[in-house]
Amino acid sequence: MDVENYQYQGTQKLVYTNNSPDELTRVYYHLYFNAFQPGSEMDIRLQNIDDPDGRMFVEGKSRIAALSPNEIGYLHPTSLTQDGEKVKFNEEGTVLVVELAKPIQAGGKTTFEMAFKGQVPVQIRRSGRNNKEGVALSMSQWYPKLAEYDFEGWHADPYIAREFHGVWGDFDVKLTIDKDYIVGGTGYLQNPQEIGHGYEATGTKVKKAKGKTLTWHFKAPMVHDFMWAADPDYLHDTLKMEKGPTLHFLYKNDPEIIENWKKLQPKTAEAMEFFSKNIGKYPYEQYSVVHGGDGGMEYAMSTLISGGRKLGSLVGVMSHEMAHSWFQHILATNETKHEWMDEGFTSFISNLCMNKIMERNKDNPFENTYKGYRNLALSGKEQPQATHADRYGHNFAYGASAYSKGSIFLSQLGYIIGEDKLMETIRKYFDDFKFKHPVPNDIKRTAEKVSGMELDWYLMDWTQTTNTIDYNLKDVSNAGAKTKVTMERKGLMPMPLDILVVYNDGTRETFYAPLRMMRGEKENPYPDLKRTVLPDWPWAYPTFEFSINRPINEIRAIMIDPSQLMADVDPENNFWQSLD
Ligand SMILES: [Zn+2]
Repeated sequence: MDVENYQYQGTQKLVYTNNSPDELTRVYYHLYFNAFQPGSEMDIRLQNIDDPDGRMFVEGKSRIAALSPNEIGYLHPTSLTQDGEKVKFNEEGTVLVVELAKPIQAGGKTTFEMAFKGQVPVQIRRSGRNNKEGVALSMSQWYPKLAEYDFEGWHADPYIAREFHGVWGDFDVKLTIDKDYIVGGTGYLQNPQEIGHGYEATGTKVKKAKGKTLTWHFKAPMVHDFMWAADPDYLHDTLKMEKGPTLHFLYKNDPEIIENWKKLQPKTAEAMEFFSKNIGKYPYEQYSVVHGGDGGMEYAMSTLISGGRKLGSLVGVMSHEMAHSWFQHILATNETKHEWMDEGFTSFISNLCMNKIMERNKDNPFENTYKGYRNLALSGKEQPQATHADRYGHNFAYGASAYSKGSIFLSQLGYIIGEDKLMETIRKYFDDFKFKHPVPNDIKRTAEKVSGMELDWYLMDWTQTTNTIDYNLKDVSNAGAKTKVTMERKGLMPMPLDILVVYNDGTRETFYAPLRMMRGEKENPYPDLKRTVLPDWPWAYPTFEFSINRPINEIRAIMIDPSQLMADVDPENNFWQSLD
């Protein structure tokens, strides 16, 4: 790495095992830094979307379009061999197409050796040089990265805006950089006693290196990405968790931010414990929180976050990005196709984590998430969650769909199958599918096995359509000693219903109308209250009636879904109360 002109060169040896049942005649690599050039697909999309990202588009102009040749990013392979034989390769924007010298048989192995050169772009999105807060090098998406081949074929997506998918491997990385720079990111440092900079064993002294550079040697087993960041002014703290990984914190020596970055450290340990308990054991020995990038972005064993934040926001972004370790890096769903399974599930669990570790103790920590989804559903701009992450018409619709609607997939699943069964589903899903790239059907089948219910309707309507949920308390009327309640399904998407009845004397009881097609019932979510299980409500019937065994003048209020975890797009009509 040349820290003066931001250019770098490298060699890469890649031993590839074809674990598919197919013979491969081509492979693809991602060359992400080529996106930061005028006229790239990323630049053109930026200029053609209605609501461009404010970090990339300033005063009506694409920042990429304005880059000069010494500010652009690039990544160019200069030679490539397969088992020592030269192969043909061709750059198509951010993707390298390689015609193999000889096919790789199913189960076969081959070795690629490549030389490449790159230039770090001015920081525009995620990676780059000299970010807004003065971090010199945020190096994500920086090396030629093999594309994923799986049961669906190749996933050689161009880098247009967002979301990644990758191949697991054991990484062995050597970085040679000016010796004043402190490096943090993915991987275990192999030569801490040569490097120092806070990596050396406590209480030991490190001999000053001769020459201008240091070579940092990292190993990272079973990861599908490798990020690093470097700055001459980083402070570096470590925290060894008792029954967990070592946490590293690298942040600018800026008096404005130091106090919060110190307070962040025990909270990071608490978040690590929370996720390990509620999802599954973190399988690596390290996690690094690194100051850099342009907001917050998850990488293997690490994150890059912007640092000048209030404490709540700093802990919040750490918690979100760390939660990605389980969903984006260990389960590693293809987030370009199923972005909701990554961003949504991550948002769900990090929200629960923040509620706990920041002692917010909210009954419903997802209130804003539901607001975000309702905004989307009523905006006319919603697309099904099954949309490819790059193919949303609006950034707003992508965000609300992936994060809010994706998070509600789980919180609402908890409403359907019960909270305990939901948490059991998440733990089993992680345990059964870690390091396996699960697809939407896998989370559904796991929930079905845990709950005993059939949930295909839920997966389909919620993730593959824009159908909405709208139930209505249509009529409450006097029927002598009893009260007749008529409910109406106004939306296309079906749901089971919990109904709460509150009497004038302060007593309460609940009713439960299961959905016929789910073929099961959840446990009583309000064990302190009497619950009456009503006959199933078959979806096609637009209305459903039941009676309450007390006269109408004794009832104060009736409410559909008192938990408010059902994403009804019009919650106003879920409520009835007596007039006096
Ligand atoms: Zn995220």
